[in-house]
Parts: sequence; structure tokens; C-alpha cells
Amino acid sequence: MTDILTINGLVRRFGGVTALAGVDLSLEAGQIRALIGPNGSGKSTLINCVSAVDRWDEGTIVVDGAPVKGRDSVAAARRGIARTFQTLRLFDDMTVLENVMVAMHHSRGYGVFSAVALLPRYRNSEARMRKRALGLLDRVGVAPYADLIAGTLPYGHRRLVEIARALALDPALLLLDEPAAGMNDAETQRLAALVASLGGDDGLSILVVEHNMDFVASVATQVTVLDNGRIIAEGTPAEVREHPDVLRAYLGSEENA
Ligand code: ADP
Ligand code: MG
Repeated sequence: MTDILTINGLVRRFGGVTALAGVDLSLEAGQIRALIGPNGSGKSTLINCVSAVDRWDEGTIVVDGAPVKGRDSVAAARRGIARTFQTLRLFDDMTVLENVMVAMHHSRGYGVFSAVALLPRYRNSEARMRKRALGLLDRVGVAPYADLIAGTLPYGHRRLVEIARALALDPALLLLDEPAAGMNDAETQRLAALVASLGGDDGLSILVVEHNMDFVASVATQVTVLDNGRIIAEGTPAEVREHPDVLRAYLGSEENA
């Protein structure tokens, strides 16, 4: 299998804090890998580096055969690297539909989520964008709320809108930072089904940060465990669950769990 993502020796320091202390991680095309670890272990930092929201001190990140350059998230988005944030970043005053439409700005305009070929004539047409945005909202299950102001939606729904926004970039690589945070059990289960089908049916490569181990076990084939900026375990969900270092890392940070 070819890797969509290859990270080698990634180091990110913040002053005296080493958030990532030499991380190697790879993701095969079409694979869903979960990234877990106690709070402060470096998960969001890693997502920030891969999506080029952040820069890093050492190491390389290669996506789809080409290196990613730090602090250039626009270029990363154009290359099909899409992400959601641990803390929601929607435009609360815009409608749900508008939130997705503004995200299309950097879309590559080809691939699975723009199945209707974008004829040059229609490429930027409002009607076409609306149609595509509605399709994405439908894909994540919030199409009925398209015309509501995003800020008025329940939290779980807003998280789904964020995923629709990420899909609007027509990503090859999707990075999800704690997508189930703040969701109830039923919402989390529906989200797991969605993420699994984005990987399965749509063939996206997905790196997902999530604490909920049931969620992880139901979507990911492989799990990487970070602790203090280092990978302490890697394997199937069942393997890492039993791993003594993983148990120790989580027990040591019980107050954060
Ligand atoms: P996680 O997502 O696993 O909870 P983070 O990646 O957010 O962890 O943080 C890893 C470490 O890096 C923590 O010690 C955190 O305080 C630190 N850190 C993250 N971002 C910054 C920043 N912008 N400035 C200073 N320290 C940061
Ligand atoms: Mg985080």
C-alpha cells in the first residue's frame, strides 16, 4: 500500500515544552488511524503540523508524495489536507449552508466529493455551490438545518457541520481532532458510522484524535498512542487497549481522562 501521509522525526517545541519529541507516523491511503493519548500528549499539535496551521522544529511531513510546509494552511487545504478543530470554528452568525459554501473557496474541485464534474462555465456558480454544499450537509446528516443560523444548532450538529466544511475541500486526507467531544452516546455512534463510511465508501484517508475507545475501536484499524510527545504504542484497537505502557500512561493522568 502507498502511504498518503508519512511523518518522520517530527519535533515541535514551545519554549521549554517539547510537545512532539520525534514522532514517526504513517497512514496508508484509505486507512483510518486513530491517535490517542492523555491530555497534553501532543495530539492536537501533530494535527496542527500536518494541516500546516503550525510549524515544527525538526522532521518532515509528506502528504501524497510531496512535503508539507509549516504555517501555510491555505496551500495544505489546496492539496486536499482538511481538518476539524478540537474547539469548534464555525461562523456562528452565518447559516449552516453558508458555512459550508465559504469553505469551498479552497476546494480542489475534483475527487469524490465533487462527483458532478465541475464544468468551467458553472465552476463558480452560486447555484452549483449551493447544490454541492447541500449534498455535503446531507452526507453528514444535517441537511434539514441548512438554512438555520449555525450558532443556534445543538453542539453535536455543529460538529457535523464542521465535518461538512472539511469535506468541502474535497480532501484526500482528513484530520479530525476529537470530533465526538461534547456529543452524547447516540450522536457519538452516528458519528462513528459516518467516519467509518467516509473511510470505507468514500475511500478517504483519515487520522482521528479521539478519547472514546468504543468510537476508536469501531472506526480505526490502527491506533497510535502518544504520551509526552512520544509514541508509546501502535497496533489494532484491541492490542493497544491491553498494552501495559498505555494503561500506565492513562492511569498516570487519570485526572485528565
Ligand atoms: P493534546 O492535544 O494531546 O491534549 P496538545 O498538542 O494540545 O496536546 O499539547 C501538547 C503540549 O504542548 C502541552 O504541554 C501543551 O501545553 C503544549 N502546547 C500546545 N500548543 C501550545 C502553544 N501554542 N504554546 C505553548 N504550548 C503549547
Ligand atoms: Mg488536543
